Amino acid sequence: MTGRLAVVGLGPGDPRYLTPEAGETLTAAQALYGYAPYLECVPARAGQSRHPSDNREESARAAAALRHAAQGANVAVVSGGDPGVFAMAAAICEAIEAGPENWRALDVVFVPGITAMLAVAAKIGAPLGHDFCALSLSDNLKPWPLVERRLDAAASAGLVIALYNPVSRARPWQFGSAMERLRRHLPPATPIVFGHAVGRPHERVAVTTLAAAGATPADMATLVIVGTRETRMIARPGRTPLVYTPRAAAEVSA
Ligand code: SAH
Repeated sequence: MTGRLAVVGLGPGDPRYLTPEAGETLTAAQALYGYAPYLECVPARAGQSRHPSDNREESARAAAALRHAAQGANVAVVSGGDPGVFAMAAAICEAIEAGPENWRALDVVFVPGITAMLAVAAKIGAPLGHDFCALSLSDNLKPWPLVERRLDAAASAGLVIALYNPVSRARPWQFGSAMERLRRHLPPATPIVFGHAVGRPHERVAVTTLAAAGATPADMATLVIVGTRETRMIARPGRTPLVYTPRAAAEVSA
């Protein structure tokens, strides 16, 4: 079987964040699959077919891309950021595991990208400078009580938390509820970073505290970094503050 499937991370939006490997893989592909707004970020190339789909259709998109590759084509599936972080790489693996035997014989490669939490962190200092974790606040694929249990565990263990998918039109209350939950474990002055559309034209990065976090607007293009008791803010004249988590932590930090 000669078909090839590449699962490619585009980074957060700025073309300078696209790795050379990702760029080469996209140029070489005969067919591109992905969420429509991500596909629009990929420069057009003659002779390359495009197969945009909706955000919610990850499983169907994965199966369509695999079927196409199994016909012998060189196919690329794109994700924003890194494809392995709340994105298409796991959907492709799920489809291969559940799918026909011949999909296992395909040449499948995963091309990493800069994930949103790294792009946001780089805009503000070093909030992920000590132990951290990443959680998706979406309860589309897991029950909300599990999200709460993970928030409790992460905050009480003294981990910085990168929150993906904080808010959507279908999930208006979850973010406020998550902040309330975190107040059980963390002081009101805990720094919170909001990174909106980082690497895109309307980029905005704001720093607030856990006490005020509910009032800061967040949406599907926002990544939120919740600090720990150790996370610090350095005020600077005429510049945005630096937020960082020191490399060393006390034995019990939560
Ligand atoms: N695979 C992506 C994440 C997909 S989940 C990655 O590695 O970045 C989608 C969530 O990622 C969004 O709700 C938001 O929380 C975050 N995100 C993606 N791109 C972003 C950007 N440019 N700026 C801020 N957050 C972003």
